[in-house]
Amino acid sequence: MPDAPPRIVTIPCLADNYAFLLHDPVTGATALIDAPEAAPIRAELDRCGWQLTDILITHHHGDHIDGVGALCAASGARVWGARADAHRLPALDMALEEGDTVSIGRLTGHVIAVPGHTVGHIAFYFPQVQAVFTADSLMALGCGRLFEGTAAQMWESLQKLAVLPGETWVYSGHEYTAANAQFAATIEPDYAPLRSRMAEIEVLRAKGQPTVPSLMATELATNPFLRAARADVKIAVGLPGAGDVECFAELRARKDRF
Ligand code: ZN
Ligand code: FE
Repeated sequence: MPDAPPRIVTIPCLADNYAFLLHDPVTGATALIDAPEAAPIRAELDRCGWQLTDILITHHHGDHIDGVGALCAASGARVWGARADAHRLPALDMALEEGDTVSIGRLTGHVIAVPGHTVGHIAFYFPQVQAVFTADSLMALGCGRLFEGTAAQMWESLQKLAVLPGETWVYSGHEYTAANAQFAATIEPDYAPLRSRMAEIEVLRAKGQPTVPSLMATELATNPFLRAARADVKIAVGLPGAGDVECFAELRARKDRF
């Protein structure tokens, strides 16, 4: 889309959450992905001069939906979320399942079911802007904690995301990257690509800048949770010859204790 390219804006919310605006300047359509709180999102909409038309919800946790009611009342935006979690999400205009699409002006988002953190967690992939909104499934150098799903479910969810093109930007829901990097270094302490990414993260955070989004190729190369199928990672966690899910589960359990 060479003329009037779509825009994506990152909005820091609460202590360490991110919300995102996806705007199509030709149609004026503006989607919000997750609504941790209304005020900073309203301020960003005003600053950009955009009218909110759609709210896309990734999962039911309060730090992703608490702003929906106020933003919806003010804008009349359509609310999209997982049918599986409709009973614990704000009232949905569009109930979604894997394989469904969402239309934001000229942009089409593809719904990917990514259970693990919660059972109804979904991600939104917009190939036209090379962006996937993953919230608390795949995160920068990490993945969400397993509150509801199993390690096997989360591993399978991560595999669905891992096959997206390497040039896809991963818009995850929190600024957890520095802590995730500290953990990753306990698994692969001498791994040069991880070390150089850690240095970049340090520079960004020292300037108060977000480390989100990150490139899928970078995640594939450095995120330990995406590297659980590797023989050297299995050896690093003391599980040589283990299955991929077993290795992933061990990594996740270690991160919980970290
Ligand atoms: Zn969550
Ligand atoms: Fe969250």
